[in-house]
Amino acid sequence: MRYYVMTLFPELITKGMNTGVLWRAMEQGLISLDCFHIRGYTKNKHKRVDDYTYGGGAGMLMACQPIWDTYLAVQERIRERAAAEGRSPGRKRLIYLTPQGRVFDQAFAEELSKEQELIFLCGHYEGVDERILEEIVTDNVSIGDYVLTGGELPALVMMDSISRLIPGVLNNDESAEDESFNEGVLEYPQYTRPDEWMGKRVPDVLLSGHHAKVLEWRREQSLKRTAERRPDLLADQTGK
Ligand code: SAM
Repeated sequence: MRYYVMTLFPELITKGMNTGVLWRAMEQGLISLDCFHIRGYTKNKHKRVDDYTYGGGAGMLMACQPIWDTYLAVQERIRERAAAEGRSPGRKRLIYLTPQGRVFDQAFAEELSKEQELIFLCGHYEGVDERILEEIVTDNVSIGDYVLTGGELPALVMMDSISRLIPGVLNNDESAEDESFNEGVLEYPQYTRPDEWMGKRVPDVLLSGHHAKVLEWRREQSLKRTAERRPDLLADQTGK
């Protein structure tokens, strides 16, 4: 997976990606990151990337030109790589992070993890001139119903959850198979040593060594927890 991120804060993206599992995945060549600093592509002599909004109103808007030129640079990089590898570059999905987009979830992360290259556009200020969005964006994506100052944290959230679904990124101890949202339910409660802490004991069934009973207990706990904390997930499954 190759990520191309168009941003005003490349250092935020690289710092976020250069830790833990994602750093290891980059070292292993399983994922790669190319940041494109939008301010570096502005033709404005003051390096401005924003301007006033037509029709008035508070706040500034990111203008078309710097983003368009950044986009052309991303396309050029994609073309060069494809040529070096003897394949056609094809059309890549370009994700604009926006509170107005489809809300990101595990199923969407799984869908995107099948892509080989993804481009992210991080907005700032009051957002981005609609015309450039119409021209280049394939997917408008939100990470939830709240408003952040910029698209960098949402892009990091997405790259983190997509990357851990790519084969080889997690090792056996970190498997993504048995987790919340798999099969539409939350994960069961988990415990590690010691088997008693502050008078609280680990449930006996988990110490029993009886594999089938452990599985049954976990399934029940998953359903109970989902019903308590996220009844909407169960309603989704029954189509209510
Ligand atoms: N005026 C915009 C609106 O009302 O829809 C909000 C702009 S927000 C202050 C600035 C930028 O942060 C957006 O362009 C977007 O890139 C990012 N952003 C904010 N909240 C987000 C969210 N929930 N999901 C994804 N991106 C978000």
